[in-house]
Parts: sequence; C-alpha cells; structure tokens
Amino acid sequence: MRKNNSFAVLGDICYAVAADDLKTVPHAYAVCENGLCAGVFKALPDRFSDIEVIDMSGRLITPGFADLHLHAPQYSYRGTGMDLELLEWLDSITFPEEARYADPEYAQKAYGLFVDDLRRSPTTRASVFATVHTDATLVLMNMLKSSGMGAYVGKVNMDRNSPDVYRETTEESVKETCRWLKACETAGFLADDSIVRPIITPRFVPSCTDELMRELGKIVEKDKLPVQSHLSENISEVEWVKQLEPEAKGYADAYDRYGLFGTESQTVMAHCIYLRDDEIDLMSQRGVFAAHSPQSNMNLRSGIAPMRKLLEKGVKCGLASDLAGGSSINMFKAVTDAIQVSKLYWRLTDETKAPLSFTESFYLATKGGGSFFGNVGSFEEGYEFDLLAIDDGMAKTSLEFEIEQRLERTMYLGHAGFIKAKFVAGRRIL
Ligand SMILES: [Zn+2]
Repeated sequence: MRKNNSFAVLGDICYAVAADDLKTVPHAYAVCENGLCAGVFKALPDRFSDIEVIDMSGRLITPGFADLHLHAPQYSYRGTGMDLELLEWLDSITFPEEARYADPEYAQKAYGLFVDDLRRSPTTRASVFATVHTDATLVLMNMLKSSGMGAYVGKVNMDRNSPDVYRETTEESVKETCRWLKACETAGFLADDSIVRPIITPRFVPSCTDELMRELGKIVEKDKLPVQSHLSENISEVEWVKQLEPEAKGYADAYDRYGLFGTESQTVMAHCIYLRDDEIDLMSQRGVFAAHSPQSNMNLRSGIAPMRKLLEKGVKCGLASDLAGGSSINMFKAVTDAIQVSKLYWRLTDETKAPLSFTESFYLATKGGGSFFGNVGSFEEGYEFDLLAIDDGMAKTSLEFEIEQRLERTMYLGHAGFIKAKFVAGRRIL
C-alpha cells in the first residue's frame, strides 16, 4: 500500500548526533514518515520501496538550523547603528522603531519582509521577540504559521526604563499578555500540534519591575509556558541590574525568584557573557538554555560568552543571530562566528578553554539549539523532519572534497541562495 505521508530525500547526508559526532552518509535517503524522520538509509528498506523520492543527488542534506534568539521588529534596520553600544543602541534605534508596531499596517508590511527572508534562510525553528503590541504579535504569528516555519513568539513585556511612546504600565502589560494568550488559544497556537507557539517574554531585567516579573511568573506557572529573555549581555547592563535589583543575589536570581528561570518552564536566555560560576551552575541545574549570539556580541561590543565553560558545566547551549544586534539571519554564519570568537577567547582570555571545533559549532546550531523545540535538529529516528538541500557547488573550487569538508565550506561560504529545498516537520516550504 502506498504511504501518502511518506517520502524520501536523496543526497549527501550529514548531521551531528553529539558535539563530537558528525555522521556523513554519501548518496543516501533521509526518509520522512508522517512529519518525522524514519532514519537515513543507503538503500530504501522494502517498507518504503514505493514512496516518492525527491532526488537531490550531489546536494548536501543537513537538518534545519535553530535560531535561539532574534528580534523580528528589528529586521528593517539590520546592518545600521553598528557604531553604538547596547544601551545607547536600544534608546536611540531599537525602542523608537519597535514603537511603530502599534500600527498593525506597519507591522504587516515590515513583518512580511522578515518572514519571507526567514523562510528562505537556513533556519527552520526560531525563538522570536516581537514587540509589546498584542495585535502586531498576532500578525507575526499568523505570518510565520502561513510560511510553515516553526517558532516560539513572544509579546514583549516592559514597564520601566523605556521612552513614554514604548512603555506599558504594569497593569496594561499583564492585561495585554492575558488577552494575547486568549487570542493564541482561539487561533490554535496552544494546540499540541502547533509549531508556532507563544513564549513569555520579559524583555530584560532593566525593562521589568518586580511586580511585573511576579505576575509573569504566575502566568508561566498556571499555563505551563516557556520563557525567553536576556541575561548578562553587557558590562554596563550588568552594573545597572545590580543597582536596580539590590535584593537579588545576581542577574540570574532576578528571574529565578519569580519562577522565570527553568525547571518547570522551558527557558532560554540570550548571551550569558558575564555570569558568576554559581549562576552558570544554576542554569545547568535548571536546564536553562544559553543562546550564544556571537555576531551581536561583537557588533554591540558586548564581549565573548565563555562557551567552553558553559559546555563543561553542562549548560544546554544553542546558537542565535540576535537580529538586529546581529546584522544577518544567516545561521551558517552564526556557526563560523561562534568558532571565531571562541578562538579569540582562548587567545586573549583563557588558554585553558579550547576553541569550539567545527563539529561542535554545527551541533550547537542544529541539534543543540533544536532541542529547545523538542526532537529537532537531527536525522535520528523520531526527530521532526526539518531538512535543507544545499547546492554547495555554488562555492566554486577546482578541488574534490569529502562531505565533512563540503559542510565546513558551506558554513564559511554559504548563504540562503545555496538552499534548494527546505522542509519543516515534513512540509516542504521552499
Ligand atoms: Zn536580544
């Protein structure tokens, strides 16, 4: 009997099952069965003998990439304002632009450009900040759903230290969050099979009063929702948090004391550069993900996250573009940026912390960050079928390379134009 929901993609397959274990299988079949990967096979097993085969012979076949942290409303000004440091960049560029999303028509236009670009990019799953505006956030979620992308999307909460045009009162912030979640339920974003889902998003400690954090913690506990925010990105920011929250044991505790730091709720924190050892231990114990955003950390002069240390301590880690602190949503570039900054960290900061290897960084961008979204980022059996077919021949060369070298070249030289097919949870979206 023909299996209508099954098909295979044929090509040169590579995927990382662990940080030190890259699998490469030339001219093989990645089989999709009802949206899940049924495995990788040199020859199709009998039970799949009559399924459709999408022939991508000669192309590199990789899992989709997970972008663990980015800001959709910052897409339009990407690549500008790069002379500024974090706090002045937020005040002079970010907040005024994000305020424009009060206008749903503007949101429709700007988010349309963002979603179209994301659909063509290597990313299949993303954890996305929207703005404080409920209606514009729903516009973004509906667009992502139509595009076929998988995403967590957050209506941002902020009730202090931002301009009057872009600040909520505590009461408004809580009320609008509840209205947004109600609308998410009605639209099906809370259904078990929805791959676009809401995530609670206190912007960062300087933007949220204790009262707001407490209320968000209650919502997270009641509705069992995931959480995303920023943590220890920049030296001035970390100092500011100390002044704002003298009662907290540290930056991590400013979230943790309100139940916004893992264990019960899946949590991802962007940056994690200036953490104390006890805070790193807490992340590890609570299963809090670190979203390493090397390009943004360079652009905004933030610093270099101690990735080797985080990994040694068992913190779950993934990579992120942090658009538009990062100027590009190309996750191939995030892989090589992470390697490059880890070499500088080793050279300039601590020679006991080995740089990330290519396989490690590729793993972080696929299965490492993918695990925030479930079984995502690998071709092991039972993983969601997120797949890219890549024409690495677009990077011209007179040499012949093994699959692993072709993958490395693709990360250093590739861009969205290399991607010839893209699947998310078994659905072809490109
Ligand atoms: Zn960010």
